[in-house]
Amino acid sequence: MKEKIIISVRDLKKNYGDFEAVKGISFEVKEGEIFGLLGPNGAGKSTTLEIIETLREKTSGSVMVDGYDLDKNPEQIKKIIGVQLQTSGYYPGLSLTELIELFGGLYNRKVQPMKLLDTVNLRDKAKAKFKELSGGQKQRFSIATTLINQPRIIFLDEPTTGLDPQARRNLWDLITDIRSKGTTVIITTHYMDEAEILCDRVAIVDAGRIIALDSPDKLIDRLVATGFERPKEVKKANLEDVFIQLTGHALREENH
Ligand code: ADP
Ligand code: MG
Repeated sequence: MKEKIIISVRDLKKNYGDFEAVKGISFEVKEGEIFGLLGPNGAGKSTTLEIIETLREKTSGSVMVDGYDLDKNPEQIKKIIGVQLQTSGYYPGLSLTELIELFGGLYNRKVQPMKLLDTVNLRDKAKAKFKELSGGQKQRFSIATTLINQPRIIFLDEPTTGLDPQARRNLWDLITDIRSKGTTVIITTHYMDEAEILCDRVAIVDAGRIIALDSPDKLIDRLVATGFERPKEVKKANLEDVFIQLTGHALREENH
């Protein structure tokens, strides 16, 4: 892995009125990694992401993205990042192709809708409207929209929440593919199995502070070193394995 630092956050704070949602967090993201922000609801993950994405004002601290200072060059930062747009922006009457063209226009980019839909395995749905998609397809389309401006970094805030196990796996493959093309990925999730599989490093955020930051492997080793032991697993599979085994494999299309 390349060791260039692409995002650097220093002592970031965010207050909403008197409430300190983010209490001085610092972390760095390396270029080409999948970096996870984990933590309970209300920990400050989305606030942190939205500040880096230039969508929310910070109270204090510094944020550098690919050498650009958020305070001085937010426009430059916007050009190199991909953000999942609110689904409310997906005009209900437009097809996926039309939506991609529309968003391409917003970014001032010439886009090839079919090529982009291929990336997320939605070519068959080119003429469908957003509201006609399954949950997994909606998330894949939403990820496609982050790629329109060929960003260096994409931000995914709980992209797999509410998806069935299969759709979740499809999304893991998609995110891995995106990263393998060199794009840095920052993701939040409540699924620890997902973070363990996908993320090179994770920051665990609690009540506005980072309480741990390392690779999943190292965090687990550190816990084990304290003498922690899981209750013995008696079976070699779990119910999720049964589900996946019975209902098909990772790349099965949800609509077929
Ligand atoms: P997470 O994404 O980790 O669940 P958020 O960043 O959404 O957490 O929220 C962090 C805290 O800030 C929560 O307590 C939330 O209620 C509060 N918060 C988020 N947005 C606002 C806002 N616009 N106004 C006031 N409080 C907010
Ligand atoms: Mg959130």
